[in-house]
Amino acid sequence: MRDIPGIHHVTAIGSDPGENLAFYTETLGLRLIKRSVNQDDTSVYHLFYGDHSGSPGTSMTFFPYPGARPGRVGTGQVSTTQFLIPAEAIDYWVDRLAEAGVDAGDPHERFGDTVLSFEDPDGLPLELIGVENAPAGDPPEGPVPAEHAIRGFYGVTLALSETDATERVLETMGYERTGNEGNRLRYETDGDLGYVVELLDDPDVADGRPGAGTIHHVAFRVTSDDQADWREKLQHLGLRPTEIIDRKWFESVYTRTPGGVLFEYATEGPGYTVDEDLEGLGERLVLPEWLEDRRGQIESGLPSLSTDG
Ligand code: ZN
Repeated sequence: MRDIPGIHHVTAIGSDPGENLAFYTETLGLRLIKRSVNQDDTSVYHLFYGDHSGSPGTSMTFFPYPGARPGRVGTGQVSTTQFLIPAEAIDYWVDRLAEAGVDAGDPHERFGDTVLSFEDPDGLPLELIGVENAPAGDPPEGPVPAEHAIRGFYGVTLALSETDATERVLETMGYERTGNEGNRLRYETDGDLGYVVELLDDPDVADGRPGAGTIHHVAFRVTSDDQADWREKLQHLGLRPTEIIDRKWFESVYTRTPGGVLFEYATEGPGYTVDEDLEGLGERLVLPEWLEDRRGQIESGLPSLSTDG
């Protein structure tokens, strides 16, 4: 079995789909790579943002429920989602976020990297992390010049009331503890993108509450050949993973981890180009086959979504 090289995608809850689209594509410069619906509630979009080709390790996905109640970021959740940028791009992003009216505070150092912290329109905590020798990646064509573009994920932080059991899960996945600063424990694996998980151990933080501006789950990359073996490993840790579920663009196993955070293990293939060609990604509503015969009804029940910029 191959060690897990990092994050596959991160899925969050939002509110207004138009604001969500504008923030992630115009302000952050990601590409809308998939436009689908929540398979459990087809009146709600499922929007995917990523690099040009939607590579594993780059896709941030949202269920934007119009008028959703704000949630509360707290223990048992992914508390911050971190994107990787080149270290030289920090000044560009300080200016870009300021011009967009996003309150980002001053860049600061953490574990030798430069961190810029801010929130999305629903209050979801985000960080841009400037690293030396950033991978070139496959930046989207968009408002952000390729040299400064977000490459994909850097990592996530998990807010926990105690960390031991989650540390065991990460170690089983191939992550190694590489440092700590204050109440922040850092784990890393061997990948270019999404290779960091930091555990924030703070018994005084309130429990997280789902809602707009909170993360639903974080997915890690596995190969199709290894997925069933990972599932077994999770069972041996005393966790209760789901069966393998076909999500069309990848296959998924989910498990609630001991600290309360929902982890997913998603295959790298077949990927977002399985049902659309690369140039047309995200332009039209795509539905799994079993919803295709309801397309007219589903489309008329969705809010309009302007991608004219
Ligand atoms: Zn997922």
